Amino acid sequence: MTILPVIPTSPDTPDAVVTRRRPAMPPRHLADLDLAGRRAAVTELGEPAFRAQQLSTHYFGRLVRDPAAMTDLPAASRAKLTEDLLPMLLTPQRELACDDGATRKTLWKLHDNAMVESVLMGYPDRITACVSSQAGCGMACPFCATGQAGLTRNLSVAEIVDQVVYLAGVAASGAVTGSPPRLSRVVFMGMGEPLANYPRVIEAVRRLVAPAPEGLGLSQRHITVSTVGLVPAMRRFIAEGLSVTLALSLHAPDDDLRDELVPVNQRWKVAEVLDAAFDYAAQTGRRISIEYALIRDVNDQPWRADLLGRLLHGKLAHVNLIPLNPTPGSKWDASPKPVEREFVRRLRDAGVATTVRDTRGREIDGACGQLAASELTVVDAGGAVADAEVAR
Ligand code: SAH
Repeated sequence: MTILPVIPTSPDTPDAVVTRRRPAMPPRHLADLDLAGRRAAVTELGEPAFRAQQLSTHYFGRLVRDPAAMTDLPAASRAKLTEDLLPMLLTPQRELACDDGATRKTLWKLHDNAMVESVLMGYPDRITACVSSQAGCGMACPFCATGQAGLTRNLSVAEIVDQVVYLAGVAASGAVTGSPPRLSRVVFMGMGEPLANYPRVIEAVRRLVAPAPEGLGLSQRHITVSTVGLVPAMRRFIAEGLSVTLALSLHAPDDDLRDELVPVNQRWKVAEVLDAAFDYAAQTGRRISIEYALIRDVNDQPWRADLLGRLLHGKLAHVNLIPLNPTPGSKWDASPKPVEREFVRRLRDAGVATTVRDTRGREIDGACGQLAASELTVVDAGGAVADAEVAR
């Protein structure tokens, strides 16, 4: 593991709001607005409308987040625009790397001292960013470190987008050796439940896919939104007309066990959640990804593999098995490899495409379920990371 120097960011940002009571949303930022909104905002500041384009080209086109580096702006304009549209939302607290620099975790402090994490994962053919959508998480899944700490607050659109812009900048700098210098995939698999922060996550997705300079110009197919299965929000998601990849954290094919592993199942049952996921697949023509953390003697029995196989047979779905990652104080372990292999075999025999996710970032607590809000008390905690397998 390598502890990396924190990349300096602009010092002159308004911090005046830090003492507000939680949950306090951050100040407005360029990335909260679409291009028309940015034009209106700069005009209100008495600046010509073309400044919106100029700022957007810096931020989304060139991945410049530091206003001091936007040297083509006249000093007086820059000060005004910085204060109103480019407040520093994320302050890097710590960066950790493993896998020879191919996996990097950034711990961020937000304007109100809430903490979140993002992870960058480099592969020979792609770079994936795993981003947080909330500080903490309210879903209370007992095997997930983030779930143990509870929810602090939703992230704003710009707080989500800024994680991606930052990581795209790291990718562009060539720091991820052995990978192409372009961030191409984003997975909403960091801290938080994306569909519990619904409007902001949708808006963030729109910003990520809008062509530059309005947004980052990523392909919808290369964005994955992962959910515990909030059915009404999934239904709303279907109606958005997006074609991003949907991942469903199932973890058990039966209600008895899922009620325990994913407590929201007490409200929306396996059948209902799968129905919503299948409807999304039918609407978009895109295969859904079923996430299943394999936990020794808990959900890894052959009969559960068979039941899962029956539920998914003939559906536009594939299973992504995640060897359980260790979390502080957890009584659970990953399944032994032979058990995992048998689980995979049974699913494949049932005609269900199945992959086993690598455990990227474990060493830096950056793997799935290891991202925790409590970095202040727990050394090296982290949010959940996802392998890009799901976004293929
Ligand atoms: N709340 C969303 C987004 C988080 S994604 C969701 O649950 O889908 C993080 C993924 O990692 C989820 O599939 C989650 O269930 C899984 N996960 C959580 N803790 C884990 C652990 N300890 N080991 C392996 N996977 C874990």
